[in-house]
Amino acid sequence: MEKRVRVRFAPSPTGGLHMGGVRTALFNYLFAKKHNGDFILRIEDTDQTRFVAGAEEYIVNALKWCGIPPNEGVGFGDGPHKPYRQSERKELGIYKRYAEKLIASGHAYYAFDTNAELEEMRKRMEAAKVVAPQYNAVTRQNMRNSLTLPEEEVKKLLDANAPHVVRLKVPRNEEIRFEDIIRGWVTVNSSQVDDKVLLKSDGMPTYHLAHIVDDIEMQISHAVRGEEWLPSAPAHILIYRYLGLENQMPKLAHLPLILNPDGNGKISKREARFPVFPLSWKDPRENAPFIGYKESGYYSDAFINILALLGWNPGDNKEIMSIEEMAAIFDFERVSKSGAKFDPDKAKWFNQQYLRKQSDLDLAKEFMPVLIEKGIVKDENFVVEFCKLVKEKVQFTHEFWEQGKYVFIAPKTFDEKVISKKWNATNKDLFNKLLTKFTTVATWNSQTLHDEFANAQNEIGKLDMQLLRVLITGVAGGPQLFDLLALIGKDESLNRLNHAINSIPFAN
Ligand code: GLU
Repeated sequence: MEKRVRVRFAPSPTGGLHMGGVRTALFNYLFAKKHNGDFILRIEDTDQTRFVAGAEEYIVNALKWCGIPPNEGVGFGDGPHKPYRQSERKELGIYKRYAEKLIASGHAYYAFDTNAELEEMRKRMEAAKVVAPQYNAVTRQNMRNSLTLPEEEVKKLLDANAPHVVRLKVPRNEEIRFEDIIRGWVTVNSSQVDDKVLLKSDGMPTYHLAHIVDDIEMQISHAVRGEEWLPSAPAHILIYRYLGLENQMPKLAHLPLILNPDGNGKISKREARFPVFPLSWKDPRENAPFIGYKESGYYSDAFINILALLGWNPGDNKEIMSIEEMAAIFDFERVSKSGAKFDPDKAKWFNQQYLRKQSDLDLAKEFMPVLIEKGIVKDENFVVEFCKLVKEKVQFTHEFWEQGKYVFIAPKTFDEKVISKKWNATNKDLFNKLLTKFTTVATWNSQTLHDEFANAQNEIGKLDMQLLRVLITGVAGGPQLFDLLALIGKDESLNRLNHAINSIPFAN
């Protein structure tokens, strides 16, 4: 029988969760949804030296804003496997129990080496031109551990509580083969694998031991994580094997990196061209906060849609997808091995698509506070009409103001290029006549204005539409002109036209 799908997102609270981490959470979420499984948030806080205050709360809030809440775990409700923080799980003694099992079966050992001794070993290896010196089947023979020291001495040291770690005993030359859903079969020789520390001298487990114990105890079916963990996977396979748990081991999926727009490296939080965090993140160790997608005006479902397509190909060129649509068809077979380049312009395009899907009323509600802040009072219907006209021109709601402020306040400047090219005595005369004609328009709406303008072209002479736009709005481009004039209203439009005609000097 297939195992029930239970996946986990297991971040370490070492800082804000960046978009790479959110994508890992998202793929876990989609996979769980697809299979009606469980999605768990486990906090891997065993490295106390890297603990950052506020990080855990940030992770929980970010998953909430993104709309991908786990159904079990820290911040989302206890399940049968509580607690979900590794520092608390340590208190249950589970990691130690598994480590002792490995020691008893001869697959792990105590090591008493001091930092100075480890450093000395590294130097010796470097002098012997070893490229990446490690504690392994060869070097451990010259170190102070329970494999080299006499049994009584080991006992004495342990009884005296001498500082020590527990290390995995990796064989010298053995093929380790494992399957990754995304990468297929991977083969590594054990000579490439170091004797990883499993329990640290402070009694805390390392990630390597802790995540295996927890994945087993929490009955995780698939371990989905970033590519940076692929090099450690062979050691993990050995741990499962030595614990006699290889048949209960979760299936592995290592997700490709998200690359910066040039494709030459991982996206970094120092990247100023686009946000890297879902929500603004203030690292207590840094002065300035990093601005988030939310605060930059992205819709959360647009952000999620962008992330989903970084490395996953749904297969039919479809780009705009709701989370439910994605979950219905998600699988790891269609996740690529190679890094996914992030395109910030495409990200903005996605937001634009989501903005256009909003109702005009919702857009108006988002935009109203901006107007209020500027001291502009307009009724909701007016703002709804405004949003309907201007939404085609913006990617973010905060751009409404810049794009269309002339609707609310008469322009003080007029597009110089158009004015210098087109504003002259002939046109002034023509527009004066148009002004007179427009004054008689009884029903001021887009259609009548369109018709009246067409008539005026016959009666008065060739009228330049772009010039008319500049005289009334100040700018050379924008939404359909007669729609705009209808919105601005008869009195205001004619006042503006009158004022422009009489105040703009000819260029020459
Ligand atoms: N704590 C690890 C990290 O933050 C999790 C890796 C995993 O999912 O196994 O990257």
